[in-house]
Amino acid sequence: MEITITKAASPKPKPDDSNLGFGTLFTDHMFNMDYDPERGWHNPRIEPYGPITMDPSTMVLHYGQGVFEGLKAYHTTGGVIQLFRPQENMKRLNKSCRLLCIPEFDEAFMLKALKTLLQVERDWVPTAPETSLYIRPTILAMDPFLGVRASHTYRFFIILSPVGAYYAEGFNPIKIMVTKEHVRAVRGGVGEAKTLGNYAASLLAGDKAHQAGYTQVLWLDGVEQQYIEEVGSMNIFFMIDDELITPALNGSILPGITRDSVLALGKQWGLPVTERQITIDDVIRAHAAGRLQEIFGSGTAAVISPVGELCFGDQVFQIGDGKVGPMAQKLFDAITAIQYGKADDPMGWVEPV
Ligand SMILES: *Cc1c(COP(=O)(O)O)cnc(C)c1O
Repeated sequence: MEITITKAASPKPKPDDSNLGFGTLFTDHMFNMDYDPERGWHNPRIEPYGPITMDPSTMVLHYGQGVFEGLKAYHTTGGVIQLFRPQENMKRLNKSCRLLCIPEFDEAFMLKALKTLLQVERDWVPTAPETSLYIRPTILAMDPFLGVRASHTYRFFIILSPVGAYYAEGFNPIKIMVTKEHVRAVRGGVGEAKTLGNYAASLLAGDKAHQAGYTQVLWLDGVEQQYIEEVGSMNIFFMIDDELITPALNGSILPGITRDSVLALGKQWGLPVTERQITIDDVIRAHAAGRLQEIFGSGTAAVISPVGELCFGDQVFQIGDGKVGPMAQKLFDAITAIQYGKADDPMGWVEPV
């Protein structure tokens, strides 16, 4: 398939790299492609960024049949623009498609399309330290129809947003709150897909946590409400007795690419690394015994997010000495060094654009 390119008539002025924030600014162009049963995925095109016109009956607006991804393009000190494990995002997007009855796409073609879009927008990749160009591929159900079934037509788009350093005030621990009142996902549901409804379902618990002074929610399993799943939009790790532990993927946890990278680095460094079930009681017991060394989240946006305080019911636990733990710091430094081309890439994780 040939990707057609239509350039924007009047490009926007570029923003100041030192003050970007997250997800508010968008570049001059976007990628679009459509699906219908006769033609399959067709008409891939790069066009000026702009609104999508939809009928009010468009299925995604009513039933949430949509999936997305989140990854970043990094400007290296050598002037190269590169992606971090983008094949994994394409693979996961297709997996989300399967879970939401959305037709799959050709992953190699989409990676090529993404690179073409990034070449058009290369001047939008910010260069200040720790900034990047956030990439949001999205697929939406487009049939104008109010019956409940899988749509027959879809739109695939990619939009790009220059984003600032996640830790504008420095790399500091966050406070998280365990909820027993709400669950994010259940076994047999769509928790392992990056699909719209999962985020809508997380908002009320997130609001309550914010009101109580916490940054994110720590989710427990949807059945017994004992097993730890993940935190906000990050996976979670515990260092207990020098062992690095993360909940095993069980169908309701989002299989993070940063999570996988942390596991791979931990193994490469010769650490005991374990994917297994872990309950909130296990964590509290380890804390009481002085064996809980660190807790941190992992995800594309923040890379590594150390946890300094954990709230469970009416109990508040301080983790470590309240500062960034050595393992969180080491992983953050190692992963960002690879992403920005400052370190060797023995695992072949980076992909030049
Ligand atoms: C995207 C996401 C993650 C992290 O995945 P990465 O590939 O590491 O960015 C974790 N949990 C949820 C719910 C997510 O949406």
